Amino acid sequence: SGPSYKWQRVLLKVSGEALAGDHTQNIDPKVTMEIAREVASVTRLGIEVAIVVGGGNIFRGSSWAGSSGLDRSSADYIGMLATVMNSIFLQATMESIGIPTRVQTAFRMSEVAEPYIRRRAVRHLEKGRVVIFAAGTGNPFFTTDTAAALRGAEINAEVVLKATNVDGVYDDNPRCNPNARLLDNLTYQEVMSKDLSVMDMTAITLCQENNIPVVVFNLNKPGNISKAIKGEKVGTLIGA
Ligand code: UDP
Repeated sequence: SGPSYKWQRVLLKVSGEALAGDHTQNIDPKVTMEIAREVASVTRLGIEVAIVVGGGNIFRGSSWAGSSGLDRSSADYIGMLATVMNSIFLQATMESIGIPTRVQTAFRMSEVAEPYIRRRAVRHLEKGRVVIFAAGTGNPFFTTDTAAALRGAEINAEVVLKATNVDGVYDDNPRCNPNARLLDNLTYQEVMSKDLSVMDMTAITLCQENNIPVVVFNLNKPGNISKAIKGEKVGTLIGA
């Protein structure tokens, strides 16, 4: 058998904002193509990759709730639909370069994608297909970070890799404090007590309870996604 890597099955979380790149129309095809290429390179090595895609580039429920009388649940359902758009875009991009990819939605949209079925998702992964989990958890008041932690735990992913627009977790806000340091390692407890706004509490708690480490890294640096998936040092590692 070939070389073995740190993780055999990973859950990659791609934020909506990261998908936007510098494109004015929500999604930057250069970003989705880079994700596709890097994911292709690791699936060829036999690493199983599941993806949760955010929707913040199109619609974020919390920032719309309240305006024009929009209630939070309705706003959040629109946000979840935004993640489906991103997921289908990413699937089409992956399949354009030959990576078999399935989208599973947390609520039924069976003309567009499979419904989420845990065992079927695992089977796809075992066959070398990439599975994209769309529509978050299917519930308002949650986030796609929580969806990543939840699906990660359900499919026994060994790590949640959070791809963002920042290099990792800093000890202070790097936009305000030029001396802010990028941290290599953090415990779940530190993330929670220092309120480091890496991930919401629900997501980080789920990861902690299930002993799933989280890596926060910058997806805009070429090679970072494949490095993160192969378990090479990149960004900040959060664990016990
Ligand atoms: N959302 C939700 N439940 C979920 C996941 C997402 O209601 O389980 C909604 C919520 O309105 C959120 C939007 O979908 O603002 C987009 O997801 P998120 O903000 O997590 O995306 P990201 O920040 O990763 O771009």
